[in-house]
Amino acid sequence: MIELFNITKKYGNKTAINNISLFVRSGEVLGLLGPNGAGKSTTMRIIAGYLLPTSGSVKVAGFDVVKEPVTAKRHIGYLPENPPLYKDMTVCDYINFAAELRGLKGKDKAHHVNRVIEEVGIPDVKKRLIGHLSRGYRQRVGLAQALVANPQVLILDEPTVGLDPQQITEIRQLIKELSGKRTVILSSHILPEVSSLCHRVAIINKGNLIVENTPQNLGKSL
Ligand code: ADP
Ligand code: ADP
Repeated sequence: MIELFNITKKYGNKTAINNISLFVRSGEVLGLLGPNGAGKSTTMRIIAGYLLPTSGSVKVAGFDVVKEPVTAKRHIGYLPENPPLYKDMTVCDYINFAAELRGLKGKDKAHHVNRVIEEVGIPDVKKRLIGHLSRGYRQRVGLAQALVANPQVLILDEPTVGLDPQQITEIRQLIKELSGKRTVILSSHILPEVSSLCHRVAIINKGNLIVENTPQNLGKSL
């Protein structure tokens, strides 16, 4: 479902990621684990079609993300580390706006907006301003914008960073529910997070893929 072949990204003469290949099967949840600056966000942005690689190719749902970004992006939901949430918009208006950006209209739009509000558990706050929500709820709104067109593939960049312990537990539970019917890549710098949520873990450091294995077998391959 997600195929990265020899992806390299350079910013000027700095190599952010170096010759990474990764394959994620349909329905699988892959964790991208690594310290700050390892290249996680760069990798996620490239898969989501928001950043061009310097070399290599990437396919999502069979579509080449570099050559056919518009088609590929229809299958991709992306939650950046700091999603642009508009503080002065209500939750409902913002999700409608996100739906329009993805080309949804009329009854179809209304259906998907209502569906996603239920799916991420925010019906109680849908009339509130985003700026008045807790970080945990804001993260749910971020997930809602990623999911509004019901994509098969979900890309979550550090989805629990900056949340308090209670919010972390709730967002992890929600991610578990959302990943049941989708293919997911999520990044984290916390091993227990990827171990509890992911079928497989890929560790990157300084732009290089170090090891890739199931959480159970990770220790053996290090
Ligand atoms: P992570 O998400 O694992 O923290 P990033 O992908 O953000 O890592 O960054 C990987 C490396 O690339 C870091 O050294 C970072 O400073 C660098 N980098 C990221 N974005 C840019 C950019 N736009 N310009 C220059 N360097 C960048
Ligand atoms: P993240 O780990 O989520 O990428 P960063 O703080 O590393 O967060 O990056 C925030 C923004 O700044 C991103 O758009 C990234 O591409 C850019 N950036 C990161 N490092 C550098 C850098 N060394 N030079 C220029 N831009 C950078």
